[in-house]
Amino acid sequence: VVLKRYLLTPGPTPVPDEVLLAGARGIVHHRSPEYSELFLRVLDGLRYVFQTENDILVFSASGTGAMESAVTNLASPGDRVLVASNGNFGRRWQELNETYGAQVTLLDYEWGQKVDPVDIAQALQADAGYVAVFCTQSETSTGVVNDIREIAKVVRPHRAVLVVDAVSGLGATDLRTDEWGVDVVVSGSQKALMTPPGLAFVSVSQEAWELNSRVRNPSYYVSWRESKKALEDPSPQMPWTPPVGVMLSLDKALQLIHEEGLEQVFRRHRILGKAAREAAKALGLELFSLDDPEATSVTAVWVPEGVDGSELTRVMMLTYGVTIAGGQGRVAGKIFRLGHCGYFGPFDIITAIASLEMALRDVGFESQLGAGVAAAQRVFLEEKTW
Ligand SMILES: *Cc1c(COP(=O)(O)O)cnc(C)c1O
Repeated sequence: VVLKRYLLTPGPTPVPDEVLLAGARGIVHHRSPEYSELFLRVLDGLRYVFQTENDILVFSASGTGAMESAVTNLASPGDRVLVASNGNFGRRWQELNETYGAQVTLLDYEWGQKVDPVDIAQALQADAGYVAVFCTQSETSTGVVNDIREIAKVVRPHRAVLVVDAVSGLGATDLRTDEWGVDVVVSGSQKALMTPPGLAFVSVSQEAWELNSRVRNPSYYVSWRESKKALEDPSPQMPWTPPVGVMLSLDKALQLIHEEGLEQVFRRHRILGKAAREAAKALGLELFSLDDPEATSVTAVWVPEGVDGSELTRVMMLTYGVTIAGGQGRVAGKIFRLGHCGYFGPFDIITAIASLEMALRDVGFESQLGAGVAAAQRVFLEEKTW
């Protein structure tokens, strides 16, 4: 039996054929003029997506590697840091900081809720000692997108630098690094950037470089200083061997994003998110995260009473070939997550919802066939273009 597969997870995400093909060629040597040209073009494309003129450092790593680089290159042992966490990836900031000996003050929110910028403002006002604030733009574990513009506004008057994990949000939701004053933005190749896994990025502001100049943590492979030195070489490069094929693919993907235009990319993601939420509601399911127009990367939904969540996602994958994500951490088995950041269009959502309707029946939940699909179709019909 040939089962056609559909990937609808919030990372890694589907990759357009032309992006895959761009990486399927002979190796370009990473210390050659041809590579420098490619790398410079990629950095330009990243500056467009990051909306910044700051340095962008590139690492051979998944997103967590770039997050770890931010912690080791900014926070020294004993330094006070503020972590605002509303899910699994916020907790990762806490764990990384604790691993390297920073003293963490945690603003801990219910999973599915948004970080409240007022709490960050109060914490910073009460204590001037924080060197950095860590938070997440798109909290992939819950589907919640935090308001980075407001968070940046409350952090700006203080000496602390703001570090944002935008691994699943960058390229799906607006993030104006320079205009909003976000010091450090972390992202990865394998989510909204429509590229295979393997590359991760951080943008670094002048204030973040100043903090870095005082840092006492050791760092070698992900040292920001080594990265910057290689960037400033007459032939800009990375200090160590990059995954050249992924870099070639990323070059193509960034070109596609530039051609679509960021505004349209964000608009398409808002429509995809809305269609997914309307479909879930029409099926009588309860959204796990907020019904928020900015929830553009992933839609998280409660598994209905009496249904085993892991069974539901298993049936979708094995019977219908549709791979979605279950819940992580404390909501494992209780929610499912439909990813739509990156290379997604209306018929990805419709496919996912159609298979969800069928799988729900298979596991004993009486959903009305076609109700979710129709709700998604109505959203796409209203919007007309995506
Ligand atoms: C995917 C993701 C990461 C990084 O995960 P990796 O598996 O290391 O790439 C970090 N933060 C968020 C919000 C993510 O979605």
